[in-house]
Amino acid sequence: MTYQLPELPYDYSALEPHISGHIIELHHDKHHNAYVQGANTTLDKLEAARGQNEYGGIVGLEKTLAFNVSGHILHSIYWTNMSPDGGGTPEGELSLAISEAFGGFDNFKSQLTQATATVQGSGWGALAWEPLGKRLVIEQIYDHQGNNAQGAIPLLVIDVWEHAFYLQYKNVKADYISAFWNLVNWQDVAKRYTQAKSIAI
Ligand code: MN
Repeated sequence: MTYQLPELPYDYSALEPHISGHIIELHHDKHHNAYVQGANTTLDKLEAARGQNEYGGIVGLEKTLAFNVSGHILHSIYWTNMSPDGGGTPEGELSLAISEAFGGFDNFKSQLTQATATVQGSGWGALAWEPLGKRLVIEQIYDHQGNNAQGAIPLLVIDVWEHAFYLQYKNVKADYISAFWNLVNWQDVAKRYTQAKSIAI
């Protein structure tokens, strides 16, 4: 099995004015696709290394695999976390869980916004389900794979690599994050939450 670039669930321009169609097209077709291809290429290189029993490049290959697979996973979640009909607040069980974990939606939103806005360099903010402690956590992810708890399942992710916003928002990352909240597909986040809760670790 090789990794495949998923189709976007909407047109490139569907998230305007919050995120331009130009950004979404480049981000999906070029950046996300590069992580998919990178993951497949790295798996091929690891297979070749096994075939030759030659592991001189193993450190770099393992890091490259983690980077590209994590990039593919996070972008696949990111696209479905957004909707032209998004925004507002979560409902039902997810709403209750967020309130219990963070002391209310506003507190949750503030923490995730701050964690996302203060990423040093390239990375992501994320709401994740941590299955050992069975709790919701907010993570500040470096690159695609650093600074996260092992096994925690991303439910809502905000890409703050410059390619996600710079063509429209320039250096004002905070405005992009504010706009992102208008796009959140809470039904998708709730579905991911329900599925994640059934996973044991
Ligand atoms: Mn990205």
